[in-house]
Amino acid sequence: MADVIGVAWATQWVRASAAAVGEHRMELIDLDRAIGDGDHGENLDRGFKAVLVKLDNPDTAPPETVGDVFKLVATTLMSTVGGAAGPLYGTAYLRAAKAADGATVDAAGVADLLDAAVGGIVARGKAEVGDKTMVDAWTPAAAAAREVADGGGTATQALRAAATAARTGAESTDPLVARKGRASYLGERAIGHRDPGAQSSALLLEVAADAAESAESAQ
Ligand code: ADP
Ligand code: MG
Repeated sequence: MADVIGVAWATQWVRASAAAVGEHRMELIDLDRAIGDGDHGENLDRGFKAVLVKLDNPDTAPPETVGDVFKLVATTLMSTVGGAAGPLYGTAYLRAAKAADGATVDAAGVADLLDAAVGGIVARGKAEVGDKTMVDAWTPAAAAAREVADGGGTATQALRAAATAARTGAESTDPLVARKGRASYLGERAIGHRDPGAQSSALLLEVAADAAESAESAQ
């Protein structure tokens, strides 16, 4: 079993993210319609489509490292997504790019880049766990990856644990009142609805784990 992941994984993750966000566009729009302004699915779909265009641009050299891939995602999401999620996701990928400074990433590296992503989201949005935001997905995801790394697991296992924790974290937003973002204007009317950003975060992390597992099975 491969202990590390590299640029091929990161590139595959981005492609799969664009596909998954496209597939789940309406679901994310509906979630954001319920407790926001209904643009989250549209915003992310536009952003990841723009990332693919840059990735496939024949006039620019393909990214050589995991950090290069994340930097491309960060700058593109920041300039195309808009809303709250654009800068939040952009900062997450930018911090992750800085954390992923080597050619490959092992399980501890996965935990490092997820910690960096959480740090970026929190630095920008000032949300805590329980505020009904994407932080409720990313924080347990980073912790789960760290636990796998500390236990001697592989990068792929760390990503799968992160994805599972992110999904549970997204589900945990259902009964919450929002304390950050547009949904916070709704008070108790947000109860019973999933936070769209937490849902998209879980989706992206699931695709990250899928990409690592499919790279492994191809070996
Ligand atoms: P907007 O709210 O500007 O329409 P989006 O709909 O694209 O932007 O994104 C909404 C998501 O952004 C929310 O579901 C939530 O997860 C996330 N979000 C909003 N504000 C914050 C914040 N301060 N910290 C962390 N995440 C936030
Ligand atoms: Mg919105």
